Amino acid sequence: MSRPSFTRVLLKLSGESLAGAQGYGINPQIITTIAQEIREVVDLGVQLALVIGGGNIFRGLAASSKGMDRASADYMGMLATMINSLAMQDALEKAGVPTRVQSAIAMQEVAEPYIRRRAMRHLEKGRVVIFGAGTGNPYFTTDTAASLRAMEINAQVILKGTKVDGVYSADPKKDPAAVKFPELTYIDVLNRGLQVMDATATSLCMDNKLPIIIFDLTTEGNIKKVITGEEIGTIVQG
Ligand code: UDP
Repeated sequence: MSRPSFTRVLLKLSGESLAGAQGYGINPQIITTIAQEIREVVDLGVQLALVIGGGNIFRGLAASSKGMDRASADYMGMLATMINSLAMQDALEKAGVPTRVQSAIAMQEVAEPYIRRRAMRHLEKGRVVIFGAGTGNPYFTTDTAASLRAMEINAQVILKGTKVDGVYSADPKKDPAAVKFPELTYIDVLNRGLQVMDATATSLCMDNKLPIIIFDLTTEGNIKKVITGEEIGTIVQG
């Protein structure tokens, strides 16, 4: 299994990945490290777009299970992704990477509106584009937003940064017999209910033949490794 190196990618970060051990909010050290790693690949000429989740601040489904109206809760979740997006923009610009945030929900004082062709132009100019506010619709996730935006901008791959180094047959922390899959098909993921992305996001990638690589974001240097074709993590494709 050899992998190409990529020139236009969409990197999906969960909200939790910004929180670190504290489990909530944004850890300044972590966001600074991620920004520096992104800078390294942008310096290589890679065009990089980002989608960041909001789970470190607010999750719609969790709030609605406690009685809140689901759509209202989901809008709150989307606003949480904007908080993360603005924090990441700040960290990236401090690292010297020009960055634009585009929001799927209009908030012109803080971010550009999502305009596909403008996003592509930013990428061509070497700017990182952060797509905030998910898809702009309740009942979706930021994984689905990542799949949708990746296809819209003709990204070659979705890179999903997580806390584990790929997809396993079972939870490796609980089951010592768990094995890591270096490669999977979309159908494997859907049929076995593997924790890669939710079913909507996975189906969207399958229908449009967009590969997904799940890799360990917590090991420094992995963003560059995965983009330059090193065989880390798990690749999901046709
Ligand atoms: N959300 C939504 N529509 C979208 C994307 C996100 O309603 O298109 C809401 C949803 O409530 C979700 C929250 O935003 O729980 C945060 O996103 P997500 O759970 O995907 O973040 P992650 O788990 O990646 O941190």
